[in-house]
Amino acid sequence: MARGILVTGGATGIGLAVARHFAEQGARVVVTGRRQEVLEAAAKEIGAQPVVCDHTDPQAVERLLTQLPERLDVLVNNAGGNTDWTRPAGGELPPLEAFVRGFRANLDANLVSAALTTKAVEDRLAEGGAVISIGSIAADKGSGAYGAAKAGLASWNLGLARELGPRDITANVVAPGYVADTEFFRDQLTPERRDHLIASTALGRPGAPGDIAGAVAFLASPAARDITAQVLNVNGGEHGTR
Ligand code: NDP
Repeated sequence: MARGILVTGGATGIGLAVARHFAEQGARVVVTGRRQEVLEAAAKEIGAQPVVCDHTDPQAVERLLTQLPERLDVLVNNAGGNTDWTRPAGGELPPLEAFVRGFRANLDANLVSAALTTKAVEDRLAEGGAVISIGSIAADKGSGAYGAAKAGLASWNLGLARELGPRDITANVVAPGYVADTEFFRDQLTPERRDHLIASTALGRPGAPGDIAGAVAFLASPAARDITAQVLNVNGGEHGTR
């Protein structure tokens, strides 16, 4: 039977590279996202099933369940991003109201979304399966609400690993450094900032979505059956060489 895989935010960037990997292995892959057109185009390209879903919305996640296979072997909690850039709260709001909305939006997008999705599908996770959540080097860098959300994700994962361990299901975080060629940074990076990020790595180059997909593939493979409750840093050596 084909392995059942759910990749949240699987239509672009890292999620798309992850979904493509599993689709090429012959798995039944479901990819989600909020933009129907983007999602459908990506799903068609790699041979996956698209389902529109906002992973911060419990009702939308409930609806997603009706479209998923009964048995899931791998859940990849990849949906996320820095909502201070993509959906800034504010406008006419009083400053503190804008601040707290922005902060909560980041927690929702990067932490609550993963916890909610995992909770929804946990009964369908198969023995020998894996939950892999995409964290960030931002968790260790003091990167505001986004970094705090990703640090929370790593902490939450520890409890998840303990919860799922008796069912022989692993739970790990893959924490990328700077990954180029995704929508993540959009127009946020000046050439100087980009050069600085690259110069901070040991390898002297940015990561690619495929680099992150390789780490996810490993953690979802039989070779990684004894690895759980870990954060795997995939950042070209940015950790420890700055
Ligand atoms: P992208 O912006 O290309 O990917 C994010 C994907 O998540 C998009 O497809 C987006 O689609 C989807 N998404 C975001 N929020 C939601 C939501 N609430 N519900 C459903 N889908 C959602 O960037 P990346 O591929 O770079 O990012 C993937 C992950 O990697 C993120 O968690 C990010 O924080 C993390 N990361 C990225 C780094 C980088 O340098 N690029 C570094 C470290 C971590 P849509 O907008 O249509 O919903």
